[in-house]
Amino acid sequence: MAEKRDYYEVLGVNKNATLDEIKKAYRELALKYHPDRNPGNKEAEEKFKEVTEAYEVLSDPEKRKTYDQFGHAGFGPQGFDWRQDFGRVRMDFSDLFGDFFSDFFSDIFGTQEVHRENRGEDVEMRISIPLRDAVEGTERTINVSVYEKCHVCDGTGSRGKKAAIECLQCHGTGKVVYQQGFISIGQTCPRCKGQGTVITDPCINCRGYGRVRAMHKINVKIPAGIESGTSLRLRGMGNAGLRGGGRGDLYVTVFVEEDEFFKRKGTDLYCEVPITVTTAVLGGEIEIPTLKGKVRAKVSPGTQDGTILRLRNLGVPRGSTRGNLFAILRVVLPKTLSREEKRLWEQLKSIEDEKNYPEILKYRSRL
Ligand SMILES: [Zn+2]
Ligand SMILES: [Zn+2]
Repeated sequence: MAEKRDYYEVLGVNKNATLDEIKKAYRELALKYHPDRNPGNKEAEEKFKEVTEAYEVLSDPEKRKTYDQFGHAGFGPQGFDWRQDFGRVRMDFSDLFGDFFSDFFSDIFGTQEVHRENRGEDVEMRISIPLRDAVEGTERTINVSVYEKCHVCDGTGSRGKKAAIECLQCHGTGKVVYQQGFISIGQTCPRCKGQGTVITDPCINCRGYGRVRAMHKINVKIPAGIESGTSLRLRGMGNAGLRGGGRGDLYVTVFVEEDEFFKRKGTDLYCEVPITVTTAVLGGEIEIPTLKGKVRAKVSPGTQDGTILRLRNLGVPRGSTRGNLFAILRVVLPKTLSREEKRLWEQLKSIEDEKNYPEILKYRSRL
């Protein structure tokens, strides 16, 4: 890892800089190195990350104190990994620059969308199911690890009955406003991170966050006819928010496994059914497997290889209708013959009349 530069140096401010001076310096540098203004410029992107990291630390009184005391080492051997905790910076960023820039964050920092309110994050789970279950609909019990409200402090984040106190910096509003020329700019309060309150005696179980990780068993109903890649939304089953915030949603994305026998196209299913040469020539009855058990079908005399039988309403349901099952008939020839069969085939060959084979006649005329 390259030697990290001093955060104050990065922002070009002195050690006693006020929060407003730090913000002002960051705002200027962030605009200068912003990816939108420097498309494809890796160096600018690195600079942008560097100033954002410096800002993340120096704009947070707690982190700044740690940094002042111990330098980069204060955040562990790898230094400070601000991407773990970038939500606040992102909020500040939106406040500083407006929503104009809001979309690039996840692109260049590879992090998840962050919610402005207290509401917990959405969680995504992926599962795969066999085609058969996708067609007929099914239920699955899934285990998902999400944050739930801390039961010790009931989500308040405070130990005992001692409630959180109003934040002195923003007077409980969660926002601070500062004046720049004639413009007043509101931003998320850095002391309470927009909560409006500060916890003085944090709950031991959740360390003041008001939520803890837990495994949940969730029953998911998968509707009949689901397409592969569909996300089912389970409202309020995602992460609980910080300090009593509402729950995000759980998205269960369902992938449908390939089936060895049935192929799906929209609401129709296709399968290949082998039939003997005698059945193809003489006609007869065959059995065809479907997702609802086997059905019998008639094969007319002289059925050619590749003939498609349509079996109505045995495909995939959609609304109140259902697609078709198409059975592609494959005429197969015997690989071995008994002595008796061989004798009969030879006899058949001796009396065979090419008139009965239109394709052969057509071919003959080309010779
Ligand atoms: Zn707690
Ligand atoms: Zn505050």
